[in-house]
Amino acid sequence: MKDRRTSALGWGMAVGFSLLSGVCAVAIGLYVANARQHVGANYTALVADVVRAQQHPILLRTTLDAMQEHPEHRHAERLENLLWRIPQHIRGVSHGLSQSQLAPWKYRPALDALARVEPRLPELAALIEAGIETNDDRQALQALGYEIETELAWAYGELNDLIHVAAGEQRLIMERLSLAIGLLVLLALAVVASLMLALLRLSRQRELVSRLSLVDDLTGLGNRRYLLETAERLYQQSLRNQRPLSLALLDLDHFKHLNDTWGHPAGDKVLVAFARALQEVTRQADVVARIGGEEFCILMPDTPSEGALDLAERIRQRIAELNEDVLGVPTSIAVSLGLATGMGSAADFDRLYSRADRAHYRAKANGRNRTEVSAA
Ligand code: GH3
Ligand code: MG
Ligand code: MG
Repeated sequence: MKDRRTSALGWGMAVGFSLLSGVCAVAIGLYVANARQHVGANYTALVADVVRAQQHPILLRTTLDAMQEHPEHRHAERLENLLWRIPQHIRGVSHGLSQSQLAPWKYRPALDALARVEPRLPELAALIEAGIETNDDRQALQALGYEIETELAWAYGELNDLIHVAAGEQRLIMERLSLAIGLLVLLALAVVASLMLALLRLSRQRELVSRLSLVDDLTGLGNRRYLLETAERLYQQSLRNQRPLSLALLDLDHFKHLNDTWGHPAGDKVLVAFARALQEVTRQADVVARIGGEEFCILMPDTPSEGALDLAERIRQRIAELNEDVLGVPTSIAVSLGLATGMGSAADFDRLYSRADRAHYRAKANGRNRTEVSAA
């Protein structure tokens, strides 16, 4: 009963863990599918582009300020070079964004600002081309320059923030995924362990059941099924080794009378005492079984007829000596035995059994409490 409960617990645990792992695997699968765009994204090149482009508004302002103070040719050249580089970077960053895993709606405002900057650059170039001579020229250049610088600084600043947030999310997702995978591995181990435990319990139960199906409940001796299984093995052994195999059939005398006189429970106790006495008298190699109510059988491998008769007489003697302390009833008991011995094909169980049965019948007929041997 306890075994059945623990086994049910083992299976319950296995099924529970399997279900839990299944649910976790599905949840992690959904999460991974959802987080895939973040996990696979590589923001390194885009960050480098944006950081480099962030230098442009700074350079633009410092160059314009320098031109205000020293309107020399060197500064104009630097500005022209910058005006050539700014659109290149805008296009590079736009391309990088379109290839990235970032949601377009997130970077759209910054791209729009950069798109607004592009057509203003030729205007700035035209002002420089026309020459910066008057105060008005300088002011117009500065106003347009600062406008471009503000847009660029804002747009690249936004993009930088956006990419850093996305990279942070990516890190967080990776951490969560590592945790989830660790959890899944632990669950899988728990499932394997609980399944192994359940299988172990099942195999122990099977072993117990098969052992019980071969054992006689009352005496603990082997039962008829056990005898038949063992008989086949001993027969094969006798065939192989060409050694004699003996069989004894034992039946308690007047057992019905004992039951009627002292009661069935007392009869049971006598059967247990009788079985114990048989085990004590026989050798380790002998097979003792209870094959019916008060009928027993002993298979004696590697035993000739004389050896079997010797054992039978020792059993009879031992049984006659069992006293009230052992039997539990103030009476003695006696047993009648029939013996048969065979070798090779004559050691077949059915042949030995029917010969021993006939000898046993003679023992009863000839007055009981005796051993009769079947002629070969
Ligand atoms: P005989 O000397 O001819 O063998 O006579 P007997 O009375 O021993 O034989 P019989 O076959 O007439 O009766 C056998 C009795 O064994 C009858 C039955 O109640 C009893 N018996 C069978 N199994 C059990 C058991 O498990 N426990 C008890 N107490 N008695 C049993
Ligand atoms: Mg009988
Ligand atoms: Mg009997």
